[in-house]
Amino acid sequence: MGGFVILAVWGLRQGFDPATWGAALTVANFFVILGAEQLLPRNPAMNLFRDGQSWNDIGHGVLLAAIARPIGGAASVAGVALLAQLRQGLGIGAPWPLDWPFAAQFAITFLVWTFSDYWIHRALHSFDRLWWFHAIHHDTPQMHILKSGRIHFGEEIFNAIVKPIPLLVLGAPPEMMVLIGLWIVFDGNLVHSNVDQRFPDWAHYFVPTVQLHNLHHAMDRRTQDSNYSGSSAVWDIVFGTFSHPKDHPLGPLGIRDSPVPTGFLAQLGFPLAPTRTRRDAATARIR
Ligand SMILES: [Zn+2]
Ligand SMILES: [Zn+2]
Repeated sequence: MGGFVILAVWGLRQGFDPATWGAALTVANFFVILGAEQLLPRNPAMNLFRDGQSWNDIGHGVLLAAIARPIGGAASVAGVALLAQLRQGLGIGAPWPLDWPFAAQFAITFLVWTFSDYWIHRALHSFDRLWWFHAIHHDTPQMHILKSGRIHFGEEIFNAIVKPIPLLVLGAPPEMMVLIGLWIVFDGNLVHSNVDQRFPDWAHYFVPTVQLHNLHHAMDRRTQDSNYSGSSAVWDIVFGTFSHPKDHPLGPLGIRDSPVPTGFLAQLGFPLAPTRTRRDAATARIR
């Protein structure tokens, strides 16, 4: 992941077109992780070539890239224009420290983004209406590279519009938005991958590890409702939702007694049903 981040920064500094460079790195990252999963599987029973849900995962990923992210991007562009007008009218500039070093600006970008990501993800687990969209992501006993994009497009429209708001209000420059966008693709792929990654106990407090995110995907609600940030443990530690892998042996993944259908079209319509059951009634807490 470090290599891909370095390549991303290098390309942006060279003045490469962010969209083309970002797409090239995203494709390359996908195939590197796919290859590593075949060579160094974390769990040999998990593999996208044998997972009956892989075509659904690809379908969700395509809708996410074709519909949800462009809508989010258009909303961000409109939001930035509106904010610029508003600031001009009021005669105040954006507070973003443009003269700070690149690394310091990225540190702020990272902290603000992960804060926003943390609370939105926590909301997806806390409100039933949102949970049934997010349940598509959780309803899988398998973990591999395709699960990173297994997100209902309705959830992703919500994510893509709401998550960038704090950074846009602060006036983060486009370079920072592109870099954080690529960062979350790379670490999203890594934490959902079935690559055998080993970390010392202390590393889970700092690095977005696959072990932390596996606990988030466990059926056990004690850890399913924890480790919300896939990019950094810092906000989970601050807000008391951190689960360390040494304290929680990993059980089966997915949703207990899941009501999520297996068909692709049925999955798309599933969260929209007006009579969707309450989460706690459908998936009892194990406490
Ligand atoms: Zn979740
Ligand atoms: Zn996940």
